[in-house]
Formats: sequence, structure tokens, C-alpha cells
Amino acid sequence: MTEIKLHNNKTRRKEVFEPIDRDNVRMYVCGPTVYDRAHLGNARPVVVFDVLYRLLRHVYGADKVTYARNFTDVEDKINVRAAETGRKISDITNETIQWFLDDMGSLGAMEPNLMPRATDYIPQMVTMIAGLIEKGHAYAAEGHVLFAVDSYKAYGALSGRSVDDMIAGARVEVAPYKKNPMDFVLWKPSDETQPGWESPWSWGRPGWHIECSAMADDLLGKSFDIHGGGNDLQFPHHENEIAQSCCANPGSDFARVWMHNEMLQVEGKKMSKSLGNFFTVRDLLDQGIPGEVIRFVFLSTHYRKPMDWTAEKAREAEKTLRKWYAISEDAGVAPEEKEADPELISALADDLNTPRAITACHRLANADDANQLRKNMDMLGFYEQGLPEWVNLGQQDLSHLETELFNLRETAKATKDFSAVDQMKSSLIGAGLEVQMTKESVKLVPGIDFDASKLEALK
Ligand code: AMP
Ligand code: ZN
Repeated sequence: MTEIKLHNNKTRRKEVFEPIDRDNVRMYVCGPTVYDRAHLGNARPVVVFDVLYRLLRHVYGADKVTYARNFTDVEDKINVRAAETGRKISDITNETIQWFLDDMGSLGAMEPNLMPRATDYIPQMVTMIAGLIEKGHAYAAEGHVLFAVDSYKAYGALSGRSVDDMIAGARVEVAPYKKNPMDFVLWKPSDETQPGWESPWSWGRPGWHIECSAMADDLLGKSFDIHGGGNDLQFPHHENEIAQSCCANPGSDFARVWMHNEMLQVEGKKMSKSLGNFFTVRDLLDQGIPGEVIRFVFLSTHYRKPMDWTAEKAREAEKTLRKWYAISEDAGVAPEEKEADPELISALADDLNTPRAITACHRLANADDANQLRKNMDMLGFYEQGLPEWVNLGQQDLSHLETELFNLRETAKATKDFSAVDQMKSSLIGAGLEVQMTKESVKLVPGIDFDASKLEALK
């Protein structure tokens, strides 16, 4: 069996991955808060953990992996959006969830087999909170329930901070009902404009962190294999998840391996609305940047490195993918019948080294190995929706040009004047096409610098 190594943020080491149960490998990834379209940064963990999901399915079997990713559909940002727009909360969350699934589907991301919504797990959260109070890890005050960080010695271990450092560095909310400023909310009261549920403490709603602890417990068990999310979630969100789960279930591990993707930037700068470089996945798709291209750009940077989205990278990715699709489309063997490429698998099994996986594909493309390239592209999620339309369009244009060049040559053979043929050939080469001419046929193969816009002049 392939040995997978993953960088575990809990131990800060790259470790050999050994699941608790090889017949049920379990992974939980924190999902989006659903009140607006996913921005490009939100897509990074989706693509990163999609690659890991595919690798785990390959190594342990497609039916042996359980992947849960939640939707946070109760959160104050959603309430604000509802108040601003006068819309029902459920209309906003349902619409946003569908947008998210559509947009992430365009990036070739498979849907996790479990996609729990927080609002479907309120009773489990209430039970977990009650258990924490009973064990002395939480206290109720003024309709709120707070987790007492002093009651959990290991608080801060994941991010490597002491409670004092956290108080100094974080913008903690000071409130009269808190015993320690770092204590965080498990439950809070709602007014009539906010969503609420019955509980022993107040008619209210959960704090953010408790949902992941309660859903992971319910769906994956008290100890499971991998927990993922973006780096920004490490503190306080993941620290708080660990505190809640380990105190609710003493003796359990909660998640054994913690993985975090680094942040995405745009043209070297943090993505922000004020810098004007904030955009959603949908914005890019609407501008005509294919989802496969976005995926390729993401995979070209290792997940533990900051990744810079640039327009130049997108252009390069599109050229490469055109070439790969053109070659791999000729594959004669069905991808499921083809053995996986050992180079690709060993790259991915080495803490998801996707840049190296791409190098492996380049090598196959240069060797014109259509079957193996197709298999690799399949494994990396580039054929999730079959051959993309944007590639096809290019190819239809090419067959038209192939016929034109063939006919030109037939005429030239009769007139013995090949100048028009030579001229067309050099224009095609100038557009980045390889021109393959045999007696019977003309074939045009897009090279790495193929630029479809340069063909306009030929029309
Ligand atoms: P949120 O909806 O803000 O909770 O974020 C959903 C997911 O997107 C979390 O896993 C975040 O860590 C991740 N995320 C947010 N911003 C970025 C970014 N700029 N780069 C990479 N991941 C991000
Ligand atoms: Zn979470």
C-alpha cells in the first residue's frame, strides 16, 4: 500500500499517515459561512482537500473514505445580510449553498460525502454544551454559556501560544459575564430579530466553534483522522474546537492530523475590498477564465506556501491545459483501466506535492503519452466534467483550419506555387501551433504558447 506522508500541524512534523480504521478513513474540513459568493481564497482549501480526498480514495478505496465539510448557516454575518436585504435567512443560506456547490464544481471539486448544516445539529450542540458545564469546563451567565479556558491545560497547544500571549495579541471581547477574557461563547441569547432555539440557558443560538465539534462527533466519532482548513482558522477556531471536543470526550484524540492551507493573495497583495483586488470565483468564471485553469494555478503552488494568484499564471495555465487536453484526448484506454502513474502518486503522497505532480504530467505530455497523461489528469480532477467546452471550441476551429491548409496544398501541387501554403503555415506556427503534414492529412497540435486570438487574422 502507498505510504502517505502528511505535515501534521499538531506535532509540526511530516509524519507517515496511518488511519485509525483503514476501512473508514475520516476527514473533516471547515466549510464556508453561507451569506455570499465564495471568494477566490475560500476556494483554496476546497481544492487542496479535494486533492487529498482523491488521494485517500485511491490508496484506501473509493468507498473507504468519509469526508465531511460543514456549512455554517447560523452566524451573525448572515443575520446582518438578512436585515440589510429584508430577505429570509433560509432563502439566503439555501441560495448561497447552491452557489458554493456550483462554483466549486466548476473547479472540478468533488462533493464531500457529508455536508452537514449547522442548523440541523442544534440538539447535538446543546447536549455537548450541557456535558461541558457538567464536567466543569463551561459556565452559564446571563443567558450565555462560556467555555472556561483555564479549565483546559492544553489550550493553545495547536497554535503554540500561551493564554497570556493570546490575551495580549488578540482582540478579545471583554464582557461582564466572562470570568477570563479568553473564555469563548458556546451559546448566546437571541432577540426576536435573530434566529433562536430553546435551550436550558436561554432562547438563543450557538457560538461558531461548537458546531464543528458537535458535527464531527456525530458524523465521524470522538477520534478521527484528519482535520483541515485554512491557516487563519488555526487560532482561535481550531484551538477552540480542540478544547471543546477533548473536554467533552476525555481520553479521545479528536483529530489526529491537523492540516492547514496557507493563504491566497492576489498579484502579491492580500485580497481585500479596499485594494480593489477582491473577487469571487464566479467573477473569474464570468470573465471567461475556466474553472480548470483556476484549479491548475492552485495546484502549481504547494498548499503550505502562500499562493499568489496572477493573471499571468492564469494565461500560462490555460496554454498548458490546452496542450494537455489535446494530447490526452487521444487516449485509447479508459482511465479506470489504466494503472496510476507511480511518479504522480509518490508526489501526492509526499504531503500533497502538487507542483511535483504537475512536473510529472509535463514529462508525460512531452513524451506524448496520451494514456498515462489522461489518467493523471483524471486523478488531479481535470476531467471531472469531461473534456471542457472551452478546449473543444478551440479544436473545432482547428479542424476547419486543417481542411483549409490541406486544400491550399492540393491547389499548390497543381500550380507548383507553394507560397500561400508556406504563408499559412508560418502564421499557424506563429500562433503556437505545431503543423504536422503527411501525404494524406494535416494535423494542428496546440503547443505550450498556443494563442487562439492570433488565429483571428487567418479568418
Ligand atoms: P470562512 O467562510 O471565512 O470561514 O472561510 C472558509 C474557508 O476559506 C476557511 O477554511 C478559510 O480558512 C479559507 N480562507 C479564507 N480566506 C482565505 C484566503 N485568502 N486564502 C486561503 N484560504 C482562505
Ligand atoms: Zn470548524
